[in-house]
Amino acid sequence: MKRYVFPFTAIVNQEKMKRALILNAINPAIGGVLIRGERGTAKSTAARALAALLPKIRVVADCPFNCDPDNPALMCDNCRARLERGEKLPVAERPTPFVDLPVSATEDRVVGTLDIEKAIKYGERHFEPGVLAAANRGLLYVDEVNLLDDHVVDLLLDAAAMGVNIVEREGISFSHPAHFILVGTMNPEEGDLRPQLLDRFGLAVDIVGVHSPEERVEIIKRRIAYERDPLGFYEQWREKEEALSRRIVEARKRLPFVTYTERDLFTIAALTAEFQVDGHRADLTILKAAQAHAAFEGRIYISERDILLAAELALPHRLKRQPFQDTTAQLMHLEQRLQHIEEQMASSENAPAGEVDPTQEQVEEVTPKKVRTRGGPGRNAP
Ligand SMILES: [Zn+2]
Repeated sequence: MKRYVFPFTAIVNQEKMKRALILNAINPAIGGVLIRGERGTAKSTAARALAALLPKIRVVADCPFNCDPDNPALMCDNCRARLERGEKLPVAERPTPFVDLPVSATEDRVVGTLDIEKAIKYGERHFEPGVLAAANRGLLYVDEVNLLDDHVVDLLLDAAAMGVNIVEREGISFSHPAHFILVGTMNPEEGDLRPQLLDRFGLAVDIVGVHSPEERVEIIKRRIAYERDPLGFYEQWREKEEALSRRIVEARKRLPFVTYTERDLFTIAALTAEFQVDGHRADLTILKAAQAHAAFEGRIYISERDILLAAELALPHRLKRQPFQDTTAQLMHLEQRLQHIEEQMASSENAPAGEVDPTQEQVEEVTPKKVRTRGGPGRNAP
């Protein structure tokens, strides 16, 4: 049955939240997104809408881990064993899973359980799948992640980054793929996440309420139209939804071919140094998110704009705790640089043919001494 949730493309404003979700849908290894905001700010609507927008997946019909029948490298131990025995795996098509994790979830419920007794008695491994099994190749939504047990959040972040769930008990282990888009939400008024956990969320977005009266009116109008007739409302947005879905699918295919230069790495490192971010997680996340953004825009190389758009999402939760104004000023500076690039892009599009591209000129100014040309030896595959 088709789920007629509120369409993703009908969400008014909240561009950063939508960008963060789309980039994670293109590459879940970005490490998820934490959405911070007050109640009633469309956080769960957006997550549900994203899952509904994503294409159906082909799965091994009777596998609890939604294994991909076309990709033995990403199969659970059971499916791989069946394949090795020469069994033909039954195939089914399912919507992209959306799994809502209850705040009371325990470790066993999340990772699943190994039946040790059975293993000892009969010498067979019996694994009871958990939430991570159901979420494989889908979206795992954790509302009020700050109220969840720290240890459980730790497990979720580990699995999201590694794409696999490994359960070990008394020398027996079972592993299955756990590639999922992790979306956590929290209301900052109800307590914060520990900084160690914050840093491990790939991206973070602070939702601000919509203040423009025109936009508020538009939100109300769309909400009413949707509640009156969800199917009819979906039909109005179908074209946009399908176009975005296709774009994400194409970006996923393009992603492995998106390269970067030594200079791109310098640009990223200069940013994280400027923002005094500790460790290297931010740098890696910015690179992955910039690559996903380039893929989304149909390119196989990253631009400074990709890097800045990624940094806007990868830095806010990693900035050292400073007086509030300093942090805001730093992020404002980032936004100004982005605006500058957008303006240059707009003027270069309008420029008559044959004129010097101002974007290129600007780029050359920040080039480090060892210039590497695009497509040259400096290019690295991800
Ligand atoms: Zn399987």
